[in-house]
Amino acid sequence: MADTYDLIVLGSGPGGYVAAIRASQLGLKVAIVERERLGGICLNWGCIPTKALLRSAEVYHYMTHAAQYGLSVEKPSFSLEKVVDRSRKVAGQLNAGVKGLMKKNKVAVHEGVGTITGADKNGGKLSVVQGDKTTELTAKHIIVATGARARDLPFAKADGERIWTYRHAMVPPAMPTKLLVIGSGAIGVEFASFYNDMGAEVTIVEMLDRIMPVEDAEVSEFMTKQLTKFGMTIKTKTGLEKLEATASGVKAAMKGPDGKVETAEFSHAIVAIGIVPNTENIGLDKLGIETDRGHIKTDGYGRTNVDGIWAIGDVTGAPWLAHKASHEGVIAAEAIAQALGNKDVHPHAMDKGNIPGCTYSRPQVASVGFTEAKAKEAGYQVKVGKFPFIGNGKAIALGEAEGFVKTVFDAKTGELLGAHMVGAEVTEMIQGYVVARQLETTEAELMETVFAHPTISESMHESGLAAYGRAIHI
Ligand SMILES: Cc1cc2nc3c(=O)[nH]c(=O)nc-3n(C[C@H](O)[C@H](O)[C@H](O)COP(=O)(O)OP(=O)(O)OC[C@H]3O[C@@H](n4cnc5c(N)ncnc54)[C@H](O)[C@@H]3O)c2cc1C
Repeated sequence: MADTYDLIVLGSGPGGYVAAIRASQLGLKVAIVERERLGGICLNWGCIPTKALLRSAEVYHYMTHAAQYGLSVEKPSFSLEKVVDRSRKVAGQLNAGVKGLMKKNKVAVHEGVGTITGADKNGGKLSVVQGDKTTELTAKHIIVATGARARDLPFAKADGERIWTYRHAMVPPAMPTKLLVIGSGAIGVEFASFYNDMGAEVTIVEMLDRIMPVEDAEVSEFMTKQLTKFGMTIKTKTGLEKLEATASGVKAAMKGPDGKVETAEFSHAIVAIGIVPNTENIGLDKLGIETDRGHIKTDGYGRTNVDGIWAIGDVTGAPWLAHKASHEGVIAAEAIAQALGNKDVHPHAMDKGNIPGCTYSRPQVASVGFTEAKAKEAGYQVKVGKFPFIGNGKAIALGEAEGFVKTVFDAKTGELLGAHMVGAEVTEMIQGYVVARQLETTEAELMETVFAHPTISESMHESGLAAYGRAIHI
């Protein structure tokens, strides 16, 4: 007899485990299936362990710059092994936390590889294989939350020795001396920042005309200047033609904007050119589930084109972020509870315009909503404000006076269309603007808001004031 549930969640990343908890809170009988570690990429190989590594790099940076604060540290040094060990322990702690949450919320955990074997109006079937054991499960609804994996270069597969994906870069067999980072999205820039601060010579290569291409152009420009000042080499409009592991490192052939191919040697390379959704071998083809460039197509509630099958998180497409996955998980769980007769839940469809994006490099980058260029492209007349951290007392006191806040308003209505920040602590500050966007805040409310002094967040106030010619400290 198959175990029967109201809901089975396939994959236990921040999409899957959050959906499972929310469904359980709503009284559903829930199971979750995981082939690796509870918590998915985010807790085990993504968001959290990278932040632990970056924290070590930040502390090391302060140690090597202690004199700026009137302090002295004799011969700062580090053990890469211990830095990595700390990061793995942090990941382990969170993995154990998710195990505890599953227990607390009475979510049945099935370890193994899950495949959907059928779906009709009455529900779905799923088999879980672990070793030579197969468990058959049935449920009224199934959520696919299988996430994504690193994209390999077509001509050079990551080998874990010299050519790394993010997984290898997180548990490096050796400290790179000369590192090539291929791709300048958040993951590439975070690893570039980590290894640069730990003493490696870092080159970033980016095919497009600027690094961090999804960010506002002024943020990209500022980051290029800062990272170059910190010692990195940045090559934009440059395509990687070839990458070969050699006995002592890697050899890269890169075609620059002038069409010339340059060959250079590095000790290691990190490939950070995007992700591939995990949609193979989970039974999607047989069910006729529609995909778009590999990602499962869903409506704003996570419904696929097949009754009873839902999908959330990285497997459904951009932005590939943990908080987007979790939010989709909550919406799908509530929509499923509603479909099962719960009249007290009223889920709202996902609004992708209000999802913040953060990069935890040094300096940090954070943004939400329209860039200036995208707002103009969308037909808005804009009012733009910008406030540099050099005008902010707290930033100066912290020794972090390099950065800025840029805000984009609709000139007609005053609506806050987007906010873009670079500098210390901005990944914590962005939430202020996310709430503002969620509440459809205009310039008037932002100007009326009292910001605590001294905080770097006062720059958020000043940026709004600057858009209307009213900034005080500049
Ligand atoms: C280096 C790195 C840093 C990142 N940093 C951030 C960050 O700072 N902030 C942020 O928001 N996002 C970050 N991300 C992205 C974030 O990790 C993902 O967006 C998030 O994990 C997606 O969650 P998910 O639930 O969709 O899938 P995942 O976390 O990928 O989880 C999917 C789970 O499904 C399991 N699975 C897949 N197929 C099967 C199967 N057939 N049977 C059983 N189990 C299966 C997998 O083992 C996995 O555990 C980072 C990613 C990386 C790689």
